[in-house]
Amino acid sequence: MAETSEVIGHYVQQQGEGGYQWVPALDQSTELFNAVIGDDISRVEQLYTGHGGSSTHVCLFWGESKEQTGAPRVEAKSRTLAAIATQHGALRVLSYLLSKGVNPRSEGLYEFIESSNPNAPTIRAMLDDAAGNFAPAPGEAPAGPGAHGARTATPDAHGSGAAGQQGYAQQELDQADLENLPYSTADLTRPEYATDTFRMYCFKVLRCSKRYAHDWRACPFAHPTENARRRDPRETRYSSLVCPDYRQGCCVRGDTCQYAHGVFESWLHPSRYRTQLCKDQEKCDRPVCFFAHTISELRTPVDSFVPNPEERLRVPQATQVVLGIAPPLALQMSAGGADTAYAADQGPPVVPDLL
Ligand SMILES: [Zn+2]
Ligand SMILES: [Zn+2]
Ligand SMILES: [Zn+2]
Repeated sequence: MAETSEVIGHYVQQQGEGGYQWVPALDQSTELFNAVIGDDISRVEQLYTGHGGSSTHVCLFWGESKEQTGAPRVEAKSRTLAAIATQHGALRVLSYLLSKGVNPRSEGLYEFIESSNPNAPTIRAMLDDAAGNFAPAPGEAPAGPGAHGARTATPDAHGSGAAGQQGYAQQELDQADLENLPYSTADLTRPEYATDTFRMYCFKVLRCSKRYAHDWRACPFAHPTENARRRDPRETRYSSLVCPDYRQGCCVRGDTCQYAHGVFESWLHPSRYRTQLCKDQEKCDRPVCFFAHTISELRTPVDSFVPNPEERLRVPQATQVVLGIAPPLALQMSAGGADTAYAADQGPPVVPDLL
């Protein structure tokens, strides 16, 4: 893993309410630094290639000399991308880096948690979960909540080790399943993972960093091939209305569909989550309840989105080729194509996994 000493970010000292603060100077910093601070996961994924897992970068801090008033002073400090993401509360980028195998302890990430950040408890819990992937150093306590029984393999637990992640069963949870879970739901109900922000934008959206055996159904993060996985409503515009085609078992629009795919996408949508009171109110014991239990828990719906009226007729181009609906011109004369793809006795077309 190559160490780099490239300067990626600049901070400037500014007088804030509580004294001097270090503020990122975004227009003088690199695109990678901006993408991490802006929690722009797709850009980080593109730019991250070639930077190595835990490479350290340099950030320059431009301030005033302590010894001599008015004299400028610049200090260079090493920072990993995960440290920058931790410090600036970039949850998506942090979860991505942790899932790539970043060790929160060896990178000293805990030191970078800003207690004033509203996501600080969630960040700490995410670091604890990922720290559970690594044996503690001699004399060090085992990782915090990440170690609360989760690392003990149970007969029901799916997957063990990185390779085990492929073994997750394809299932979809709905509210009824959640009410009748036969195992501990401690992770689902942890307050760090139950904030409105986490439930609406992170629950089953952020990828899971745990490489140890754990029950994916009781884990608030997304796992490969898991159908409960959600699209981030900030990244993809979709409505809380459940997709009629998805409900029938096949939606050719896949991740580009403007309707909700599944109960989580529908009920955890910012236009719907906790906008109505729960019939059981404070007696409710559902691990994940989509309703508010007190007046103060009620939210004002945001991000209402109405799908395009033509949406259900839309077949994305990539899908057309895969399904043989609109083969490239040269192939149109050969057998197959539109007629056979929709032959009545074949049932709905099957969408390959890659969609
Ligand atoms: Zn998990
Ligand atoms: Zn759909
Ligand atoms: Zn409830």
